[in-house]
Amino acid sequence: MSTTYDVAIAGGGLGGAALAKNMAEQGARVLVIEHERQFKDRVRGEAMFPWGYAEVRALGVADCLAEAGRHHLNWFDLYVSSNRADHREVVPSTTHQLPFLTCYHPAAQESLLKGAAAAGATVRRGAAVREVRPGTPPAMIVEEDGHVETISARMVVGAGGRSCVARSSARFPVQRDLDDMMIAGILFENMPAAEDTLQGVNDFALGQLVVIAPQGGGRVRMYLCYHDATQPRFQGANDLARFVKSCEKAGAASTLFEDARQIGPLATFSCAHSWVVHPYRDGVALVGDSATSSDPTWGQGLSLTLRDARVLRDHLLSSSDWDAAGHAYAAEHDGYASRLHTFNRWFTEMFLSAGPDGDARRARAMPLIAEDPSRQPDSLFAGPDLPADEATRKRFFGED
Ligand SMILES: Cc1cc2nc3c(=O)[nH]c(=O)nc-3n(C[C@H](O)[C@H](O)[C@H](O)COP(=O)(O)OP(=O)(O)OC[C@H]3O[C@@H](n4cnc5c(N)ncnc54)[C@H](O)[C@@H]3O)c2cc1C
Repeated sequence: MSTTYDVAIAGGGLGGAALAKNMAEQGARVLVIEHERQFKDRVRGEAMFPWGYAEVRALGVADCLAEAGRHHLNWFDLYVSSNRADHREVVPSTTHQLPFLTCYHPAAQESLLKGAAAAGATVRRGAAVREVRPGTPPAMIVEEDGHVETISARMVVGAGGRSCVARSSARFPVQRDLDDMMIAGILFENMPAAEDTLQGVNDFALGQLVVIAPQGGGRVRMYLCYHDATQPRFQGANDLARFVKSCEKAGAASTLFEDARQIGPLATFSCAHSWVVHPYRDGVALVGDSATSSDPTWGQGLSLTLRDARVLRDHLLSSSDWDAAGHAYAAEHDGYASRLHTFNRWFTEMFLSAGPDGDARRARAMPLIAEDPSRQPDSLFAGPDLPADEATRKRFFGED
């Protein structure tokens, strides 16, 4: 059966848009269906680690992010409560020799989708994918202005994020960690944080982490990661004072907040890692959060999303058998996504477990890590291609 499109993508987030741009540049007929006519602040990821920046380059979307006003951070400071425990220069100390990249998420989405359209992709905004049907060919049901149509393609890609309709309607089973961590995030302006530094402020006693990610010009995205039972969700303007107090209690400097102004919503999400095993079947592939939504505490989601787009692109371009390419993508995805999951779980156990067990773990491991920092896997910076085996775990936890 002939189809109008080679690739039909449900969702124009960074994953969907980067894939669309790349496939259109290679001459594929690409359609992107994006629900939002104009992107707004959904409190999503805006700080990318160096390995994600390498994916940005491999996908050729660095110019789009530059147009969107991206900002570089070459330092990483880790505070344990209010004492600085690490001051790391990122570029020379990291596998990819790249800094952190921060960018306002709505601007990044806008710019990447514009790039996809300029490369020849058809981008339909304000339309919604209601259903995806695996098959030969696969199809998606799209609704726009009350009109419903069925669109088939050689491959349909679900890129709708954490609550992807393509994933649920195509009946991909979703696994989910039992996890009690939550993340609250907000954007500030006029905040005097060091403009070249990503800061993490870790409070072991509370099992909390504050992340301070400057975007340039005094704009700062701030996240608070905390255990669900320790406080209610932060939602809306009335919770701002409690958010600030909680960040200060965890060790963030009070001076940061003195003249800062909130310029986006305050919202809270579960940190539980969720994933689909083998995110491809019968013509439908899932990428980004739709395939694996990693614990946002560790800031790996954007990088993982772009890795998916790049790996799927490479398999599609290297084979005329797109069913085989879809399976090859899914198998490769499962490898790096499950290693990333393992590393993130170790970090949560080590740095965010409050109470006597966590204290004992840290008392054993941290002096050894201070002596030999290579005991701590550098996966956050270098990516999930490092070994995540039992020997690595034992070295990290000081059990070797
Ligand atoms: C609080 C929080 C903090 C985070 N912090 C970080 C961080 O610091 N660093 C990091 O790397 N990652 C972080 N992440 C993760 C990161 O935001 C995600 O991994 C990334 O945005 C996933 O991109 P995506 O393209 O898969 O999905 P999304 O960004 O969710 O994009 C999906 C797109 O699909 C569209 N869509 C959805 N359903 C439909 C439909 N039915 N029809 C049409 N369009 C549809 C949506 O409108 C949206 O534009 C964080 C996440 C959260 C929640």
